Amino acid sequence: MQEYKTLEQKRTFYNSTPWKHLRAAVRERDNNECQQCKREGRVFIDTNELNRKGTRKKIALIVHHIKELEDHPELAQDMDNLECLCVHCHNKLHDRYFKFASWQPKRNRFADDEKW
Ligand SMILES: [Zn+2]
Ligand SMILES: [Zn+2]
Repeated sequence: MQEYKTLEQKRTFYNSTPWKHLRAAVRERDNNECQQCKREGRVFIDTNELNRKGTRKKIALIVHHIKELEDHPELAQDMDNLECLCVHCHNKLHDRYFKFASWQPKRNRFADDEKW
């Protein structure tokens, strides 16, 4: 089984052609919208913030592995394990994950699924 433990392994994965196709497919499936913002009732991904030119700031979307690449290499290319997130939500999510991971011995695998 291919592993994605080191930065080098991850970099190789994220630079691979199959991943680039998959990422494009996930963005299309999710309409280029942040799925977390959507769940929280924000319809659009933008913040109404304007940049210096007076146009809307573009928010970078990230295709996120719901189950971490490192822990679940078998789900690396599983569309069901991927979703579009804005940078903001993505950071928040990973913060939460890392914080909880350190003190929660057993995480209920289904807790997140049931929430939505
Ligand atoms: Zn978001
Ligand atoms: Zn992520």
